Amino acid sequence: MDMNTIEAVVRTTDPADWRDGDAWLAGGTVLFSYGSTAFGPEPLRRLLDLGSAGWQPVTVTADGIELAATCTVAELYALPGKLADESGPADWAVKAQGWSGLDLVRPCCDSFVASFKVWNMSTVGGNLCTSLPAGPMISLCAGLDGTATILSPGGARRELPVADLITGDGQNALAPGELLRSVSLPASALSDRVAFRRLSLSNLGRSGALLIGRLDGGGRFALTVTAATKRPVQLRFESLPDAPELAGELEAAIPAALYHDDIHGLPEWRRDMTHRLAEEIRAELGSPAGAPAAVSGDFWPPQQTTRGA
Ligand SMILES: Cc1cc2nc3c(=O)[nH]c(=O)nc-3n(C[C@H](O)[C@H](O)[C@H](O)COP(=O)(O)OP(=O)(O)OC[C@H]3O[C@@H](n4cnc5c(N)ncnc54)[C@H](O)[C@@H]3O)c2cc1C
Repeated sequence: MDMNTIEAVVRTTDPADWRDGDAWLAGGTVLFSYGSTAFGPEPLRRLLDLGSAGWQPVTVTADGIELAATCTVAELYALPGKLADESGPADWAVKAQGWSGLDLVRPCCDSFVASFKVWNMSTVGGNLCTSLPAGPMISLCAGLDGTATILSPGGARRELPVADLITGDGQNALAPGELLRSVSLPASALSDRVAFRRLSLSNLGRSGALLIGRLDGGGRFALTVTAATKRPVQLRFESLPDAPELAGELEAAIPAALYHDDIHGLPEWRRDMTHRLAEEIRAELGSPAGAPAAVSGDFWPPQQTTRGA
């Protein structure tokens, strides 16, 4: 893509450098695909390049995992392997022991269905800030109750749940010039039992519905709906609901207009699949770990759909 309105590329991570006509440049897979005139009424004049930020891509502590905004999909995909590798940093593996939430990392990365270039260049932050309904890093970070750390041009720093950062199709809560610095995934959510479901209209297609369920040690259930909806929708229950209760809460939380509508799926299909996958997740987490899930009534047989199925 010819970005012939760009006058300068500035290497900086300081939001104070930002001015009108600037865009943060991470992996560039969106910026260089859509060009410099697609990001607002005025063409872009400068790119503020995060390429030399030097931020540690992934940091694991007892509190959880911090993903730098510049962490690439490839670096994230490597994380479960690194934690399992006994020759890796010993304290990492100890801290991450029992974090079932790590099981979500690879299915979410795989949901990108991306080329080699996108896989190796695109970043967690770029995916969140692009804010497409089918953003798989949005699914992962919202599904694990991630909190975004945001730096403002005025020097302020604020935190926002990822589920609230994304506000619509291509829309988010960032003010002009704000920089997404990192996302923190708390150990509490990482420790939960998790279930993942994804559907796409075609084998290697973009996600039409991607749902993540979590059950904590106290029996509390959280369900995060992404891809089917224009922004993430989260439901929380003090205990695992029965099928009618879950269906009713989904119906109440997602009005028809909130289902996404594009070439990757009609809203009516996305609604039906959201209900179906939610019921599969409920049944899976309601069964003992490792046991086949009993799915009620209309939703039988269950469909395991992890890789673009
Ligand atoms: C073939 C192909 C397939 C794709 N498939 C998908 C898909 O399935 N799902 C999907 O969601 N996307 C998809 N994309 C779009 C895109 O690749 C991803 O959204 C990617 O994660 C964007 O990351 P990036 O680092 O390349 O962002 P960039 O192109 O660098 O930036 C994207 C936007 O985010 C802003 N930005 C980047 N980082 C920050 C930051 N730290 N703080 C504030 N603003 C920031 C930029 O200014 C820009 O507006 C696809 C693209 C291609 C070319």
